This record gives sequence, structure tokens and C-alpha cells, in this order.
Amino acid sequence: MLLLEIQNSQLTIDYQDIEVFLASRIDMDNLVSLCKRRGLIFQSSEIYGGINGFWDYGPYGVTLKNNIKQFWWRRVVQWRDDVVGLDTSIIAHPQVWVASGHVAHFSDPMIDCKKCKRRFREDDLFGGTEGPHEKEIVSKEKIKETKCPECGGELTPPRQFNLMFKTHVGALEDEGSVAYLRPETCQSIFAQFKNTQIVSRQKIPFGIAQVGKSFRNEIAPRNFIFRSREFEQMELEFFVKEEESTRWYEYWVKERFQWFVDLGIRKENLRLREHTKEELAHYAKGCTDVEYQFPFGWSELEGIADRSTYDLNQHMKTSGKDLNYFEEETKAKYVPAVVESSLGVERTLLTVLCDAYDEEEVKGEKRVIMRFHPEIAPIFLAVLPLSKKLEPSAKKIDTGLKKHFTTDFDVAGSIGRRYRRFDELGTPFCATYDFDSETDHKVTIRHRDSMQQDRIAIDHIETYLRDQLKK
Ligand code: ATP
Repeated sequence: MLLLEIQNSQLTIDYQDIEVFLASRIDMDNLVSLCKRRGLIFQSSEIYGGINGFWDYGPYGVTLKNNIKQFWWRRVVQWRDDVVGLDTSIIAHPQVWVASGHVAHFSDPMIDCKKCKRRFREDDLFGGTEGPHEKEIVSKEKIKETKCPECGGELTPPRQFNLMFKTHVGALEDEGSVAYLRPETCQSIFAQFKNTQIVSRQKIPFGIAQVGKSFRNEIAPRNFIFRSREFEQMELEFFVKEEESTRWYEYWVKERFQWFVDLGIRKENLRLREHTKEELAHYAKGCTDVEYQFPFGWSELEGIADRSTYDLNQHMKTSGKDLNYFEEETKAKYVPAVVESSLGVERTLLTVLCDAYDEEEVKGEKRVIMRFHPEIAPIFLAVLPLSKKLEPSAKKIDTGLKKHFTTDFDVAGSIGRRYRRFDELGTPFCATYDFDSETDHKVTIRHRDSMQQDRIAIDHIETYLRDQLKK
């Protein structure tokens, strides 16, 4: 295993993935510094030396993230008749996490170095890094033989470490006031299944979707934002008749793969990986990960699982409440099975950043371009007056178009430098207002990818850009 330190973020690469890393179009070092330079992602609390596993999203990062969430919400909720949304609290009744099994089982085995006190995930020392790895039971002998990769010290046997962040609700800090920051968003969807189904008048099959923060006290946060301690999830729980779950599971695996293709991710960098029987939870009938070929190797982006009736059954048992579904037509009462799709916003963002990054040579100079899908680009249009004198007229155009698109306005520096800046921010179009614009009432629209330039009447910019979006 190779451990790289890049701007306080750790990048672990398996030896077998070094080739992928070296051959990849982008190295993480460049990406991390571009993200900082262009106001996409900052290290959290940087002025205090940072805090491992937490990240802040700058002016363009927050827009890019919001656009990704909207891209998901539109396609998974808004454009469908059979999915409704929900927004639940981050802190729930602690019994939710007893029912889900997180209090008892949501842990990773960790190993400490007795000398330097560094803590490692067992997986990392004995089973590779991110991505699929066969879980093997590590023998005591093997641990004894293995030394700390940092200082060569002796290692402790693996111990279970619960990944949930604990807090207290109310003034008293005792056992009775313990609560948890949610480690996934889906459990409150199950807890609100009945309320949501009744008010939305949805019939099975139907889904409930949610986007929100999740927290996991990861032992080894790493690979930039890939494994964070605070992150967001976009989750869909699709409720079906148990005998139809396989069909729906297969349907959602296809749908979800296509979603990434629609987002503009190159097909050759995506793959589906079906879990082996040994990897499956005892209640699950099937599970497939969507994986992306990151610079550090193939790793999980999203999990799609046929979870049978397990989740609702668990909440019925623990709460004592009836969560059966009543089918009007047949008068039958049953517990629906669940097909889940669970995706991280930050992992999608990292995928988009890695996949969109491109470099080319133009007139002997390096051009860095983020080829974002126009629907998610943090700035859709940059309005650029050629000279300071033209600022007032150009500003009017920007103000008018702001209501329709996310725009940015920039007067500083040479036009070439400004184009480079917006290329790096993945801005699909720049509108340059020059001295001729004062008389012909036209601007030059420059396309990010082809660098093609079109002269367009100011009154037609909006229609022109909308037409480009349809292409
Ligand atoms: P991993 O094996 O990588 O820890 P997981 O199998 O525990 O992931 P799930 O519990 O299935 O992950 O979570 C669903 C999705 O939430 C993941 O596919 C991923 O996109 C996202 N996710 C999970 N943990 C993290 C994290 N620490 N940081 C960022 N995203 C995460």
C-alpha cells in the first residue's frame, strides 16, 4: 500500500492500482489544488490547521453540489409519478438506530499501533484499499507478523469501533440522553413510511426519496472527499410487493447506471459490480455497486440493493407500530419489500471532477478544461466586457440573463486569461461584449469545448443558449 499526503488529505493507493493511478488522466494533486484555487473545495477550518475528514465547499463548489442534487432530484422525484420526497431530521429517536442494527453492528474493525498510536482499518492493512475486497478473517499470527507501516511498531488485535457520532439531547449528559447523528438518511424514510404513504396516496409500487447530511466517524478518512466524516446522501427507498422485488431491483440497477451516463460520465470509467453471496447482508436478496475508475482505482459510488422486507419488519418489531400496507383492490395487508438506491453527493462530485478534467495544448499553451455537463456547471454563462469602459452596457446583459441562467461577470485581466479561468470552472459559454457591440448590438458567444465563436444578437442570447442546451 502506498500512502500519499496531498495538501493535508491522504491518498492511499494499492500497489496493484499504481499503474491506474499513473496512467490516469488526472492526478489528485492537481485536482485538489484546482479545487482550492477555483473556489470549489476548501479544507475545513484551514486557518486552524484543518480537521481530517471534513470539507468546506466554496462559492462555485456549493453551486456545483446543488446542481448535482437537482440533477438527481429532477430525474428520481420530479419527473416521475411514483416517487415522492421527504426531508427528515438529522437526529432521530435513538430507537431508530437500535431497530436498524446500527447501535449493535455499525462498526469497522480497527487496529492500533502500540508504539506510534496510529489507527488503521483492518481492511487497509490486510485487504486492499477502496473498492471490492474479499473479507478474510485475519489470524492472530498474521497480525503478529505484520508491523506498523508507519513506524514498524507492534500492532494490537482488531477491535470493533462504532462509526456513529454520539451526542446528548437536552441539558443532562447521561446514558438516557444519548442520541446519534444519522449515519444514513434512509432509516427515517422507513420510520415515516406510513405517514408518507397515506398523505401522498401512493400505491405500491412507489418510492420515497431524500437528500441530506449523514455522518460517519470513519477511522481513516481519505482520498480527498471520497471518504469523509460528514457527507450527503441521495437515497431512494422503493417499496414493492415482495414477489416483485427482483424485477424492480433489476430495473433500478439499469436506471441508476443510465443516470451517470446522462450526467456525462464516460461509460468506460463506470462499471457495475454485483456482490457475492458472502458479501450480502443476511436479509438482502441482491446488491450491486456502481463503481467509477478513480485515480486511486475502481471504487463504490452507489449501492443498489434488494433489502426484502427487513427494514419495515425491524421498525415494526422495535416500535410496536403496524407498518403494513393495505391494498384497497384486494383488501390484502402486507409488509412491502424495499429496493434501495444509495448514492453519496461528494462521491458523485469527485466523479464529476475527475471525469470532466481535461488538458489540451492551444498555441503552445496548456489549456485546462472542466468539461461539466451544462446542467450542472457552476456557472453557465460568463459575461465579459472587453474593456472597463464597456462595463455598464455589459452589466445590463448580465443582469437580464441572471434570471434565467447562473452567470458570472468578470472585467479583470486580458480576455485570454478570463477564458482560461472560466474553462477551469467548466463554464460552457462566455459572452464577450466588445466595442462593435455598442453599434451592432451583438456579442461573441464562445463555446468552452470547441472554442467556436458565434456572433449573436443581444436580444437572442437567451433563446440561443436554450437551443444549445437542447443539443
Ligand atoms: P464504503 O464501503 O465505501 O464505506 P458503504 O458500503 O459503507 O461504503 P453505504 O453504507 O452503502 O456505503 O452508503 C451508501 C453511499 O453513501 C455510498 O455508496 C457512498 O456513495 C456514500 N458514502 C458512504 N460513506 C461515505 C463517506 N464516508 N464519505 C462519503 N460518501 C460516503
